[in-house]
Amino acid sequence: MRLDRFVCKSTELTRADAVRLINAGEVRVNEQVVLEERTQVHENNCITLDGQTLKPRAFRYLLMHKPAGTICANVDDVYPSLFKYVDIERADELHIAGRLDADTTGLVLITDDGRWSFHITTPNSQCQKVYRVGLSRPIADDVADKFKRGVKLQGEEQLTLPAMLEVINPKEVLLTITQGKFHQVKRMFAAVGNRVVSLHREQIGEVALDVEERQWRYLTADEVKSFS
Ligand code: URA
Repeated sequence: MRLDRFVCKSTELTRADAVRLINAGEVRVNEQVVLEERTQVHENNCITLDGQTLKPRAFRYLLMHKPAGTICANVDDVYPSLFKYVDIERADELHIAGRLDADTTGLVLITDDGRWSFHITTPNSQCQKVYRVGLSRPIADDVADKFKRGVKLQGEEQLTLPAMLEVINPKEVLLTITQGKFHQVKRMFAAVGNRVVSLHREQIGEVALDVEERQWRYLTADEVKSFS
């Protein structure tokens, strides 16, 4: 990570104060003064400020049950941010690993560890997300097969990656996907002539939603590790 970020993550300093101290030659990396705040450093480096070795705070990993009518961003003019329910220190350092639409409910993972969230959101990781989907029309018999083979979303060249459909009743299904394209689930059902009327994420990888709406909890060490 950048040196100024490392200093902020190890102290209560603001970014501006961290930069000022770095530029003033107060910070050493492996005993050498480093004046450039953008220098990339590693946690294994010995970084000192005023002779004190800095140790970054541990990353935080949370799950939350997102209510409808909130957005997965730090600020928005129209909807309240879901972070208003996350009552912890330095909540502004957190971000969401895989956003949901404002009207979608369910499981979101929240962290300040960018590498970890990248692992969840990149299609290469094949991380499975399970959605409970309410539909405007009864599901047609051939949709499970079409989703397995992949469908063409409007405006896209390539087919979607194989997805699994489980029918709960004609207007309610469980859909498991590994991608996270913009409005992916809604667009997949549009591609087969149906319409999503409710959307709820139940599971990401091995982590299932187990808290009430608006509640959150820290992930266990095993849950965090399951995404690495
Ligand atoms: N797919 C959608 O269409 N919306 C979401 O919020 C998540 C997945």
